[in-house]
Amino acid sequence: MTPVCPFVKASRPDDGSPRKPGECPIKHGAEHEGGGKAKKESGGESATVSPKCPFGYDSQTFKLGPLSCMICQALLFDCSKCVPCSHVYCKVCISRFKDCPLCGADVEKIEADTDLQSVVDRFIDGHARIKRSPVDMDKEGEAGENKKVIYEDVSLERGAFLVQQAMRAFRAQNVESAKSRLSLCAEDIRGRIETVGNTSELCSQLGAVLGMLGDCCRSVGDAGSAVTYFEESVEFLSKLSAADLEITHTHSVSLNKIGDLKYYDGDLEAARSYYMRSLNVRRDAIKHHPSVSSQTLDVAVSLAKVADADRSIGNEDAALDRFHEAIKLLESLTLKPEEAGLEQRRLSVLEFLKNQLAEKQSD
Ligand SMILES: [Zn+2]
Ligand SMILES: [Zn+2]
Repeated sequence: MTPVCPFVKASRPDDGSPRKPGECPIKHGAEHEGGGKAKKESGGESATVSPKCPFGYDSQTFKLGPLSCMICQALLFDCSKCVPCSHVYCKVCISRFKDCPLCGADVEKIEADTDLQSVVDRFIDGHARIKRSPVDMDKEGEAGENKKVIYEDVSLERGAFLVQQAMRAFRAQNVESAKSRLSLCAEDIRGRIETVGNTSELCSQLGAVLGMLGDCCRSVGDAGSAVTYFEESVEFLSKLSAADLEITHTHSVSLNKIGDLKYYDGDLEAARSYYMRSLNVRRDAIKHHPSVSSQTLDVAVSLAKVADADRSIGNEDAALDRFHEAIKLLESLTLKPEEAGLEQRRLSVLEFLKNQLAEKQSD
């Protein structure tokens, strides 16, 4: 998985990205309100106290806490204690070591620490639910105080927190841990969709989280479940506007990922049809944003994918047409000086395309 938090927009190196780093679609939470400083609630007496997570799980000042695994740096999962030194790690993480990474003692065996794991689980369960929205306060807090203190998030918004934990675990190849956090996050979002309906923000978040779950399954070779998650991701993202670059990007990438899985599985017709759907999503997006260079690049990449599948199926003429179309697009694309990263990508895709054409001529 290319770890990209759907809550904190970051760049997506695998496929170009309209996301700007550090820009979050969730427009609430202390970090968006003047760097976590206390603020006045409009129309009320309540003040927000600058939040601080006692366990160190804050958005900006993340540090490892007593509930973290020192190996994957995420919250403990399948918590296991080393014998004899008693240091604790995730089971998957410590099982790759012969000596304890913290103290160097030989690990004679590991024992499940279910007590500590249940503390971790309760922490996750409660995390960020301490948040009180002003609406909730109106309902619950009518004790007549004229100066209410609202403790907002103790740290990150819950979804972002779970995704952050999942990404850490995934990077350390603790895929089960990552899946568990992402599933919880998906469950949360589904719950909200049930109450407030298919808003574009929720569909977009769910689509991204399901895509990450797909990446998790793919990384452990579970292609069947990966396709199911990517399909579901596509289902939510396809409900949304073709004018939103963020959404169309995630949508088209999910389609391409299914295409890739089908391709490696030898089902070329299916692969081609997913690549084609992705291409269509990108062509639609470019109609809304004709001057965004990364969109043009995305369309060219999609053309190359469809053409490659065409060629494998034996549609050589169709393949050549698309390779030529992609080359034309890229050659007429002029990038701004600040788009150096895109220029590199443009050149490498162009080189790939020209090699494809050369391959044909030398056959
Ligand atoms: Zn771990
Ligand atoms: Zn130890």
